[in-house]
Amino acid sequence: MHTPDFDVVVVGLGAMGAATLYQLAKRGVKVLGIDRFTPPHDLGSSHGDTRITRQAVGEGAAYVPLAIRSQQIWRELESELESELDVQLFEQCGVLVMTSSATAPAADSAADFTKHSIELARRNGIEHEVLDAAQIRQRFPQFAPIHDSALGYFEPGGGYVRPERCIEAQLTRAQALGATWIGGETVTALANEDGLVRITSQGRSVTAGKAIVCAGMWSSELLGAPFDQLLRVCRQTLYWFKLAQPTPFAPRSPSFIIHGASEAETCYGFPPVPGEGSMKIATEQYSATSLPDTLDRQVSSAEAEQMYRQLVAVNFTGVTPQLVKSAVCAYTVTPDSGFIIDQHPRLANVTVVSACSGHGFKHSAAIGEALAQRCVDGRSDVDLSAFSLQRFSSGQAL
Ligand SMILES: Cc1cc2nc3c(=O)[nH]c(=O)nc-3n(C[C@H](O)[C@H](O)[C@H](O)COP(=O)(O)OP(=O)(O)OC[C@H]3O[C@@H](n4cnc5c(N)ncnc54)[C@H](O)[C@@H]3O)c2cc1C
Repeated sequence: MHTPDFDVVVVGLGAMGAATLYQLAKRGVKVLGIDRFTPPHDLGSSHGDTRITRQAVGEGAAYVPLAIRSQQIWRELESELESELDVQLFEQCGVLVMTSSATAPAADSAADFTKHSIELARRNGIEHEVLDAAQIRQRFPQFAPIHDSALGYFEPGGGYVRPERCIEAQLTRAQALGATWIGGETVTALANEDGLVRITSQGRSVTAGKAIVCAGMWSSELLGAPFDQLLRVCRQTLYWFKLAQPTPFAPRSPSFIIHGASEAETCYGFPPVPGEGSMKIATEQYSATSLPDTLDRQVSSAEAEQMYRQLVAVNFTGVTPQLVKSAVCAYTVTPDSGFIIDQHPRLANVTVVSACSGHGFKHSAAIGEALAQRCVDGRSDVDLSAFSLQRFSSGQAL
């Protein structure tokens, strides 16, 4: 076997790749990162100012240790970069998960998500409060009206992280610790060669002992089967509406997830980030799929008007119809909405990390750490076995 050019090459430097590069560099690994754009950028799945973080992750118990560890890593990074950071990476403003509808009791499955969060918090000793409609009205007047059937889960330790800043911070630290990274270069092929992995991009061809592919919505394009059968790219739209003056939406107002009576009444959002006077809100859609290169990246005025009419005007007080900005982002979704973090089924020493089905950011720092631990120690502190590819062929989807 020849000596590889690098111990590890990380393909894609968004949320997952930047975290992995940083954690590998921290462990003294000779690592190269390559991205098709210059991260942080607004063309993948990690832009839009804010991402919700919560510890009682209603999507499943396997996620809880990743969310908790990621919050610790954001704080570690904040202290490592103290003099260089002008804002916090992690705003611990709390998170409110609510099953609530302005018009009718919410659907049972939606109630399950809030109840599941409560159960997980109880089981894992996560600080939280369970709120009924009267308590939500009294504590959080910005969410109004609230149906009498509403159920709330409030986690004071949750809040939001700043995705672009987290990526930038980890790339900055990685570089300071000896990592090399290159932007504006697309990896076009991965192949096994003489016990190593050969990584070919537009600009170079290098060998590595291992490769970790974090290519987000471009994963299918780069990796082919079986990922092209498992991953769907779903366009999502984000809206920032100007707050009224005065407004109950203080900067320390919690991030929120509202499960309404139907998918159309379900949304999530954020308080204004420090220094800005708008509230960000978004819905989720899983029915229409897109291709990364032809994704419609414009939000139309009709979409913005519909969002205000159907969700903002109905669920909140103190928010004006004035659209401050909007963005398009994409979820890359697996059949069970869980993550894929596993070895490539045909390429030895290649690990694939999916773009995590629209709920990955809050876990990304710890995923990077776990991948680096696996490379260096052969095992990770957090168990990643729930995210295997095998579950799709054995019918044991999450
Ligand atoms: C609208 C929206 C809201 C979300 N809200 C939340 C939330 O509140 N909380 C939460 O936890 N998660 C949330 N998520 C999910 C989370 O943001 C994603 O799971 C996560 O950011 C995905 O990170 P990634 O690294 O997999 O993908 P990306 O950040 O997109 O990174 C992939 C990178 O790979 C690069 N790349 C691709 N192909 C190649 C190639 N061939 N060669 C070189 N480079 C390549 C791309 O340029 C890109 O930089 C949300 C996602 C979206 C879209």
